[in-house]
Amino acid sequence: ALKINELCVNCDVCEPVCPNKAISMGPEIYVIDPGLCTECVGHFDEPQCVAVCPVECIDPDPEHPESEEQLLAKLFRLRAQG
Ligand code: SF4
Ligand code: SF4
Repeated sequence: ALKINELCVNCDVCEPVCPNKAISMGPEIYVIDPGLCTECVGHFDEPQCVAVCPVECIDPDPEHPESEEQLLAKLFRLRAQG
């Protein structure tokens, strides 16, 4: 999963581009739900939130490192849940 860092300026452009609805407004800045973020694997060639973020404040989440296989498995789980 990816993680939004404190440089986020709450511009809201990332939320609508996430294919998994993993992004929402948190207590202070936007946050990514690591249970829903697939790093856009299976949807796009690159993370869409990173592509649109104007301040480059989205990094790999050090607490949720995942392989491509794990991310794909998460995507299939999410799809199965509808
Ligand atoms: Fe959503 Fe993709 Fe960003 Fe993860 S990397 S939060 S799935 S847009
Ligand atoms: Fe924050 Fe970047 Fe998302 Fe804007 S696009 S809300 S700055 S993470």
